[in-house]
Amino acid sequence: MRDVILTGDRPTGRLHLGHYAGSLKNRVELQNSGSYDEIYIMIADSQAITDNADNIGKIRENILEVALDYLSCGLDPEKSTLLIQSQIPELCELTFYYMNLVTLARLQRNPTVKTESALRDFENSIPVGFLVYPVSQAADITAFDATIVPVGGDQLPMLEQAREIVRSFNALYGETLVEPHALLPKNEAMGRLPGTDGKAKMSKSLGNVINLADSPEEVKKKVMGMYTDPKHLRVEDPGNTKDNPVFIYLDVFSNEGHFEKYWPEYKNLEELKAHYERGGLGDVKVKRFLNQVLEETLQPIREKRKFYEARPDEVYRILQEGSIKARRKAAAVLKRVRQAMGLEYFDQGEARQ
Ligand code: ATP
Ligand code: MG
Repeated sequence: MRDVILTGDRPTGRLHLGHYAGSLKNRVELQNSGSYDEIYIMIADSQAITDNADNIGKIRENILEVALDYLSCGLDPEKSTLLIQSQIPELCELTFYYMNLVTLARLQRNPTVKTESALRDFENSIPVGFLVYPVSQAADITAFDATIVPVGGDQLPMLEQAREIVRSFNALYGETLVEPHALLPKNEAMGRLPGTDGKAKMSKSLGNVINLADSPEEVKKKVMGMYTDPKHLRVEDPGNTKDNPVFIYLDVFSNEGHFEKYWPEYKNLEELKAHYERGGLGDVKVKRFLNQVLEETLQPIREKRKFYEARPDEVYRILQEGSIKARRKAAAVLKRVRQAMGLEYFDQGEARQ
């Protein structure tokens, strides 16, 4: 079996540090490992419409923004196929067939759908398209025979739903679809990076993000304004590093080299945490260090982004070529699906009987 990666993002805003930690960094490493036969990275515009039907302009604008973020993080169109979901109509047809393999109760039980509906205050007016988006995500994954899906922790219920659909389809119509596996980042904090406000998840919709495209001034302002331990009022007070996003970001982004370069008083993060927990270390100093650490990741991304920002036509060309290539693959898989279901009426005479 071929090793195939499929993953993507909704073009509802620029990508942020949560995307980088949860998925983008991983993707670039997987891409450069050379161990995968095919890699598809999808800008999920059709999925974004499910909760933005009245604001398609936002989605259109952010397609370029997300593509710029991809390219500036090191996704390479020579190695990874970058595509736009709506340009692959085969995905709609697959979704339509898969909808018969899932019950309404099962969709309503999906924890991610529940959390995200609550976040959007849908209550009883949840759009049908939004409710079934886990089914369309199963179509996205299976349309490319994906074996590996690198995602953040919030996407696990989606993967489980996709796996169930694959098993039901194969049981009904014979072995046709490939069962995918989620690939989570190395640790829990990376899989769900908290927001700068201390909320559980950094998320475009919550406005608690540090964008990959933010200027050094914006990043500094956001870092200096970050939520920390509310009980750590005076420098001498003992502080909590566990639910403190400043330390969680350091867990994810800092290394010993950063200490050597910017803060040689401490050998590593353990020493810094111990001091903060004992008391006698102020938030401002830690935030200044965090800002330097984040800049080590963000500065090269920002530089690369400038290059592509000046060449939007080139970026759209990459997306167009990627979408054409991806469509060829999805069409071949759809053909297999139709054959398995017996929906090929005209190809061969005997298939009709
Ligand atoms: P939206 O608010 O529009 O849903 P989002 O910020 O949640 O946007 P998505 O496009 O839904 O971003 O998510 C894309 C990918 O990034 C998914 O794999 C998701 O798991 C991952 N991801 C998003 N936010 C985080 C986060 N804070 N920490 C880790 N991974 C994240
Ligand atoms: Mg999301």
